[in-house]
Order: sequence, then C-alpha cells, then structure tokens
Amino acid sequence: MELEVQPKRKGLFLLLSSTSLILLMAMTTGLWYFISPRLHEYNEVLPFTLLTILRIFFLILVIGTLLIILTAVLEKNLLIAKFAVKLSIQVTFPLSIVLGKVLHISKSKIRESFVWVSNSFINALNNLYSPEKILILLPHCLQNTECDVRINVNIYNCRRCGKCDIADLLKIVDDYGVKIAIATGGTLARRIIMEMRPEFIIAVACDRDMVSGIRDVFPIPVYGVLNQRPQGPCINTRVPVQAIRDILDRVVIKKDKSE
Ligand code: SF4
Repeated sequence: MELEVQPKRKGLFLLLSSTSLILLMAMTTGLWYFISPRLHEYNEVLPFTLLTILRIFFLILVIGTLLIILTAVLEKNLLIAKFAVKLSIQVTFPLSIVLGKVLHISKSKIRESFVWVSNSFINALNNLYSPEKILILLPHCLQNTECDVRINVNIYNCRRCGKCDIADLLKIVDDYGVKIAIATGGTLARRIIMEMRPEFIIAVACDRDMVSGIRDVFPIPVYGVLNQRPQGPCINTRVPVQAIRDILDRVVIKKDKSE
C-alpha cells in the first residue's frame, strides 16, 4: 500500500531548496571573482585552492539536492549518497527559509513541505520493519492539561480515560507491538533514540520540532505526523491516530499468527 504524499506540498520545498542552492552558487562564484585578485596578491595558489574547495562543496550539495528531488518525485530509493543528502538538507533548508521570507512564504508552509518530502522517502525506501524496531515518538503537549498522571516519565502510567489521544495511541501499541515514548524536548528525543535504537520512527510534533528532529536523525527514516492544535500551540494538541495506523499497516512486518 502506498502512502499518500501530496505532490504540490512536496513541490514548495523542492523548488525553494534548488533555487536557493543555485542563488548561493551564483553569489559565491561572483564573490570569488571579486576577491580572487586580492587573494592572489597574498599567495598565488590561494585563489585556486579556495575555488577547488568551493567546487567540491557545491558538487556534494548539487548531488545531494538532485538525489532528494529525484527520490521525492519518483519515489524510488535514490538516497545512495547519504552524506551528500544530509549536507544538502542541512544547508538548503535554512536557505529555503531565507528565500521564503523574501518571497513572503511562511516558515510553517516551508516546514510542512519539507515534512512531506521526508515522508515521501518512506515510499521510496519501501522497507518493512519488525514492530520492536519501530518507535512512536510523541510530544508531551498531547496530554490533557487537566490530567495529573505523570506520563512523561512512563507513558504506561496513563489510565486510558480517553480525554486525550494518548489512550488511543497506547491501543496502537497493544495492537502492533511497537515501542512508544514521550519526549519533552529535542535533547530528550535524541537520548531516547540513542537508547532505543529504532530503525524507523513515527514522530508526532509541530512543524518546527518535526523539521529539526528529521534533520538531526537522518538517515534514520522518520515518518512525520503533524499534530493538530485546536487550542493553540503546545496545549491539548491532537493527533490523527488513523494516520499512524495507516503507516504501521504499510511498514510493519506481519507475523504469521500460526507461529
Ligand atoms: S488518556 Fe486520560 S489518563 Fe491518559 S494521559 Fe490522557 S487524560 Fe491522562
């Protein structure tokens, strides 16, 4: 079963990242031509050395960006040069935000588009995982603010009263046998990932936290589910639980019940 990844939503980030990379290359090359005569006065090989470093750097970025675009568009696993892809994500994402600001495109639209690109990698990878290698990582703001149970220490403390989506998410854990954890911040999320060593992560978060998480843990595949914020950011947020079931139906290795 293919996951639905909306092409138009992916397109925004792909367009901004490739355009910003072209602009960066043009500006850097222009700057090099401007300063190279002065550098030559200090040292004859300095301009050539600098130009070579820039060419290698941009070659890696171009390769990474092309692989991202082709993987997202064709949904075939072309993430072969992981270092180049990671470097491209690290460099072109902030550039896309800057270019978006110039073009009056909101940060959250660009971040959401990036999450759709990242989600399209899951179709491209087309991998299956054992349930115990899958981690559902949640933000603390899903918990109902009136609830006095300390689920950030142990999510299984939840009494499953149904006032927030934690109860339904624990039902998913019962049904699929995957792991689940709550992270109260990026540092804790990284620690949980290091300790649990998942091969596949389903992350629930707002667009800002989601993007920094995906960029941090690449190449671990992350399927991002953006939380819903009916009462505003960071309070009583909701998650489309069915979206998590859909992705699990797609990636979990089904165990033979007769075993
Ligand atoms: S389902 Fe009920 S007990 Fe569990 S975290 Fe939500 S409000 Fe608390």
